Amino acid sequence: MISIVVPLYNEESNVELIYSRLISSSSSWKESFELIFVDDGSYDNTLLLLKALAESDKRIKIIKFSRNFGHQPAITAGLKMVRGDAAVIIDGDLQDPPEQIYRLIEKWKEGYHVVYGIRKNRKESWYKRSAYNLFYRLLKMVSEIDIPLDSGDFCLIDKRVVNVLNFELTEYNRFVRGLRAYAGFRQIGIAYKRDSRAAGEAKYTFKKLVKLAFDGLLDFSTFPLRIATYLGFFIAFSSFLVGAFFILNRLFDIEIWGYSPSETPGIVSLGVGVFFLGGLVLIILGVIGEYIGRMYIEVKRRPPYIIEEVFKEKEINH
Ligand code: UDP
Ligand code: MG
Repeated sequence: MISIVVPLYNEESNVELIYSRLISSSSSWKESFELIFVDDGSYDNTLLLLKALAESDKRIKIIKFSRNFGHQPAITAGLKMVRGDAAVIIDGDLQDPPEQIYRLIEKWKEGYHVVYGIRKNRKESWYKRSAYNLFYRLLKMVSEIDIPLDSGDFCLIDKRVVNVLNFELTEYNRFVRGLRAYAGFRQIGIAYKRDSRAAGEAKYTFKKLVKLAFDGLLDFSTFPLRIATYLGFFIAFSSFLVGAFFILNRLFDIEIWGYSPSETPGIVSLGVGVFFLGGLVLIILGVIGEYIGRMYIEVKRRPPYIIEEVFKEKEINH
């Protein structure tokens, strides 16, 4: 059995569409399946529409969050519910085509534990695309594990890896595609065309995207912390050289490269230097603070999400 996990946040205009496309593409695979819809605290009719669908389709399960917790927590909750031998994660806005699921399943049957989609052409604005591009390349550069370029959350995960994600990689700040890569096992990517959103607005606000990017970069790397050390060494060393130059210059009262000691400007270089160093120190403090903040959040061991209700077959046919 395959469990299909769909996170939804205010997707009333897409719910019925994704359901019907999932059902019609299910004819291309032989396995039975369940549909796990996660309602991430929607305040539109998403839940109502889901319940209506579940009335007539026993394969549907619905998890309702107590508020909006975010895409990654929604996926996490869906995975916890999986009863199948493999889970498929797919966005609810039809950017990931359900018609591609059979390809994921094929690879799984060949023996791969993780089959992830690689986005070939993005149908998003150019600035979003270039931001994504930059992000994935930066991520690859700094992270200590190999996170495949341009792989999103659209994927199939074998039960064994689902269990690793559920019970062993239990951190709070979740970057699912990173954790998935971290888990290991046999992984392979398949390229697919990413469509544009079927209807509605993107639910990832700028703030949520920035959080996702920070989670990705900081959760899988301590490289930003090391930048502080490198920068420190670099600045200390170069200012030592500059200092030595001016001391020699004054001691021996000789002209070097046109500088005579009496003309050496003081206040400007001093000012610039102070502000430059001040800026650097603030940035580095910020980086350190970011990690400490994460530790603070992690040690509290709060759950990444809170479930208000779960609707399964029984509960729906009250
Ligand atoms: N989503 C969610 N919670 C959120 C934001 C998004 O469950 O807080 C869902 C959303 O409904 C969609 C998927 O995550 O099914 C991807 O979101 P979106 O399309 O907004 O992201 P983008 O495609 O722009 O990365
Ligand atoms: Mg989308």
